[in-house]
Amino acid sequence: MNVASQRAGWSRLPLRAAAFVVLTCATILGVSGWREWAARDQVLRGAETEMANVARSLTQHAEDSLDLLDYGVVGVVSRLEIDGTDPATIAKLRSLLDARKTAMDRVHSLAAIDDQGNSLTSPGTIGSTFSDDAFFRYHQLSPKREAHVGHPVKSLLDGEWVVTLSRRFNKPDGSFGGVVLAAISSKYLSHFYEQFEIGRNSSVALMHGDGLIIARNPSNEKFVGRSVGDTPLFRDASLQRPNGAYHFKSPLDGAERVSFFKRSGRYPLVLLATVDKDELLAPWRAAAISRMLYVLALVMLIAVIGAVLVRQLQRGQRMAAALVEKEAHFRLLAEGSSDMVTRIGLDERLRYVSPSSSRVVGWRANQLIGTPALAGIHADDRPQVQAIVDAMKRGDTEEARVTYRNTHRTNTEVWLESTMRVTRKDNGKVDGVVAISRDITEQKKLETRLETLAIEDSLTGLANRRRFDERLNEEWARAYRDRSSLALLMIDVDHFKSYNDEYGHPAGDACLRVVAQVIAAEMKRPGDLAARYGGEEFAMLLPNTDAAGCRRIGERIRRAIREAGLVHGTNHASGYVTASLGGATCRPALERTAGIGTLVEAADQALYAAKEAGRDRLMMSVEVARLLPKAVGE
Ligand code: GH3
Ligand code: MG
Ligand code: MG
Repeated sequence: MNVASQRAGWSRLPLRAAAFVVLTCATILGVSGWREWAARDQVLRGAETEMANVARSLTQHAEDSLDLLDYGVVGVVSRLEIDGTDPATIAKLRSLLDARKTAMDRVHSLAAIDDQGNSLTSPGTIGSTFSDDAFFRYHQLSPKREAHVGHPVKSLLDGEWVVTLSRRFNKPDGSFGGVVLAAISSKYLSHFYEQFEIGRNSSVALMHGDGLIIARNPSNEKFVGRSVGDTPLFRDASLQRPNGAYHFKSPLDGAERVSFFKRSGRYPLVLLATVDKDELLAPWRAAAISRMLYVLALVMLIAVIGAVLVRQLQRGQRMAAALVEKEAHFRLLAEGSSDMVTRIGLDERLRYVSPSSSRVVGWRANQLIGTPALAGIHADDRPQVQAIVDAMKRGDTEEARVTYRNTHRTNTEVWLESTMRVTRKDNGKVDGVVAISRDITEQKKLETRLETLAIEDSLTGLANRRRFDERLNEEWARAYRDRSSLALLMIDVDHFKSYNDEYGHPAGDACLRVVAQVIAAEMKRPGDLAARYGGEEFAMLLPNTDAAGCRRIGERIRRAIREAGLVHGTNHASGYVTASLGGATCRPALERTAGIGTLVEAADQALYAAKEAGRDRLMMSVEVARLLPKAVGE
């Protein structure tokens, strides 16, 4: 289970690597994007702070200006109420007002108006009346004595846009006596605002509490008197607070704006300092785009490198899987095979041994690994195997098959057949030998058995006729070469037919086995060969033996058969099993006319003669030479 989960984890590795790369890229992009957004936010916050400072100081300026007007107005009101409106007083007042006006440059005009709306102080405005003006009517109707800031209006004096601050003065009886009015020029304010250079697309506007523009920079002339009372700044409940940041789309030029508004606490005034968002963010945008391009390039580089690595990982994994599969196939073959698979290193030690070694040589694989590969081979076979291994190590031989004896763990000997093949490194250099060894002991035994069967007589264990003929040919050739004498004895059991008749065929077989043993016992020299020639007839081949030797051995055999004491009732001559023998010798090198056939024939003739002469005797062919002139002589 562990291996399986490990494999699954291994196979998911490229996917995980790919996910990691994607995550890394996404994180880099995310963090960079977030940082840029934070930088943008900082720019906006900075602009808001700047706008707030501008708004605060300009609101302060507006309040100060109105305070200044009010200061003048209050003075005139108290003088009119104390001194009345008689011409002398008015004349004095007029000069006072002129003096005040010149002393205070921001004051556009300062005037006293009677209860009918006629100017008391400005002769230039004689004939014109303020009776319809909003501020006049306000004071006429309202008993309030406070200062009143009016809507921006065009001055009757010079047609300039002004904003008015007015107070009511009462007659001694407390009824409406008129209005004292001071005005501040819109142009003055707008000029003042020009000093605040806060960006090409920035603007500062002073508005009346109900949205009428009092002064604006830039383009004062264009905007003064216009109402923005229907904008959220004057409509939204959330914006009706004393001050705050305010982002909006300008109803005047449609541009996105970042602004800060400040409402005066004492006068119905609102100051709005704004800056164009696009312009404000332009430097940030340019920097952010170039930074993000770098980041994007980096991310793409990471993605490309990551993709290449992931593909390599996949390829490596496929190769590893193929290798594992190959290895598994090899192991299945090597370990499932009943043959012993071994790998021999250049030091002739075993590097790998398959498990079947315990069956083939009795030793477990781990007991064999590291040991000399040829250690168990039979001393007689080792040189042959060593020569093959040496040739393979030199690279002279690629493949070889060799059969040899090997010691089994149980100290028995097993026959092994090894197919060996050279193994090479990638560079073609020989790095060892792979040997597949098979136990062929049973096969060898069978072979030996078959070989024996092919040359042995199954009843007696002596050589069979085939073997006899082979050996006769060989010995004949040897005798020819060595110029030596070759002797042959033919032995035939006497009256064996009647033995069979008397004692039965199995007893006859047993008798033949005893006779065979007796004959075999007379094989004294390594070259001697006793064979069953056929039926109850045997032959003894005696290399390097002359007639006298042949006679001596023949006589010994004859006696030994008789002395074996096998009762044979119908062999009337002795009552025991006896045999007749015919012997012949030949020196092939000297007797040019002689051949194998003539030797056998001579021995046969001698045997026949022995039978004729009464059995249980040996006749040499020379003794019958007189009867058979062609026979081979001594
Ligand atoms: P002689 O003295 O002239 O050799 O007489 P003989 O009876 O031995 O000779 P013959 O050739 O007439 O008979 C040979 C007999 O040997 C015939 C056969 O039944 C017997 N014989 C041959 N081979 C075997 C054998 O393998 N087993 C047995 N039990 N008898 C065999
Ligand atoms: Mg016979
Ligand atoms: Mg016989």
